[in-house]
Amino acid sequence: MFDALITETPTRETKNHKYDDKMEVIKYHPCFSTKAVHRFGRIHLPVAPECNIMCKYCVRKYDCVNESRPGVTSKILFPEKAAAHLDDAIRKHPYIKTIGFAGPGDPLASPQTFETMALIRPAFPGHNICLSTNGLMLAEKLDMLLEYQVATLTVTLNTLDPDIGKIIYKWVRYGNKIYKGREGATLLIDKQLDGISAAVSHGIVVKINTVLIPSINDGDMNAVAERAAKLGVFMQNIIPLIPQGGFRYLSPPTASMLNDARDSCESRILQMRHCRQCRADAVGLLVH
Ligand code: SF4
Ligand code: SF4
Repeated sequence: MFDALITETPTRETKNHKYDDKMEVIKYHPCFSTKAVHRFGRIHLPVAPECNIMCKYCVRKYDCVNESRPGVTSKILFPEKAAAHLDDAIRKHPYIKTIGFAGPGDPLASPQTFETMALIRPAFPGHNICLSTNGLMLAEKLDMLLEYQVATLTVTLNTLDPDIGKIIYKWVRYGNKIYKGREGATLLIDKQLDGISAAVSHGIVVKINTVLIPSINDGDMNAVAERAAKLGVFMQNIIPLIPQGGFRYLSPPTASMLNDARDSCESRILQMRHCRQCRADAVGLLVH
């Protein structure tokens, strides 16, 4: 079934001329291009322990559920160790062309992310650096991302509605202040949209992740997809809730709920259907 799914998307990719200018950037990225998925790998460098928001589905002792599968505690690497680990991984797996920062916290909330980029960018000038974030600090850190030639980004955008956001996010920390409830959710959503818009306008290829949380944000999927498309986002990755933390009593979406959401949003924005919800320290090919 998985193979069947991944052969569907390239047709759309090649036919949708709106995205033609992005093809060069994502040619070697196994998450952004279904053509690259069997040929090129990615490595996640787990250097970012901090986070500046609290998603109710997150259990911090596990990997970030935005981009990883919980169940195994991540090892946090210091920047020098991460650089050595990368060197070793690329020597062993030369098909790895994408260097990702995906947690276990938020890479833009952790200074170690940019310390690591400063070490690895000169050593790997031809590799794509990719980063996943909740988007709170995206606009403010964009200069740094451009300095290190980050070409692809993932922003987790779960809702546009602060009344839904206040259920998903326990708190948002911004400028030494904690914001809760509707105020926190409004701040986060505004920052996410500003950050996405700024990143797209600077030529970064942006994907959004949307965690499908039954009974919470399932009615907001189309609005999120619509807005993302208007902002110039390349692709949406709707991922199923993993019930844990404050959402441990919820049921995950069924396969048909997930497919329905993706099918419905596909008329608005390209859908990713081959995400493996990788660990924050994943190495290699997505598909073996
Ligand atoms: Fe957890 Fe990631 Fe949300 Fe931060 S952004 S609270 S690390 S899921
Ligand atoms: Fe790609 Fe999904 Fe894995 Fe991230 S979690 S590296 S988007 S497959």
